[in-house]
Amino acid sequence: MKSREQVEVSVVNAAKQMSARGLSRGTSGNVSARVDDAMWVTPSALPYAVMEPHDLVLVDWDGNTLQGSRKPTTEWPLHAALYRARPDVGAVVHAHAPFCTTLATLRRGIPAFHYMVGVAGGDSIRCAPYATFGTPELAVAAVDALRDRRACLLANHGMVALGDSPGAALELAAEVETLAELYWRALQVGEPVLLNAEQMADALDRIRTY
Ligand SMILES: [Zn+2]
Repeated sequence: MKSREQVEVSVVNAAKQMSARGLSRGTSGNVSARVDDAMWVTPSALPYAVMEPHDLVLVDWDGNTLQGSRKPTTEWPLHAALYRARPDVGAVVHAHAPFCTTLATLRRGIPAFHYMVGVAGGDSIRCAPYATFGTPELAVAAVDALRDRRACLLANHGMVALGDSPGAALELAAEVETLAELYWRALQVGEPVLLNAEQMADALDRIRTY
């Protein structure tokens, strides 16, 4: 079990990495980690370069601030809904990663064009239907698109990645962004050949054990 301080540091480190690795530009995107029946979330509108652990806000599932003086991210309902619906999830990364977002504006998920799509838990990475940012409707759409998965795209918005820890969620977000870029590149030339159900099932077996 990690201490509260370690959890806070890992949220801030993942948020800084998200920005430094080009997964979110400006102050877009947000990161959280579950602590018992609440979550540490990144604050609204604070540049990641200057973010410190004391800038995080501890928020319960109803959006009440339990600790911290800043305003929590406007996407706190998305994070809260995911922790409520998914006991397996310890951390959430939400980013406007450029290639994921490009596909999301086309309302295209990422199909089984590459076996690594399996890192998100299945044979596709879905794109959730559009809903206004920061609303419970967006949270519902994301929870549904994430069934049996650890990542999804959000139509005309961005993407979400889940993990046991902020670091793991960030690594998955980076992997999904790479897949989105490769899929986008392939689409410039034509329609990529998709792996069939049996090929993806084999890949998923191996991914689960490596
Ligand atoms: Zn967003």
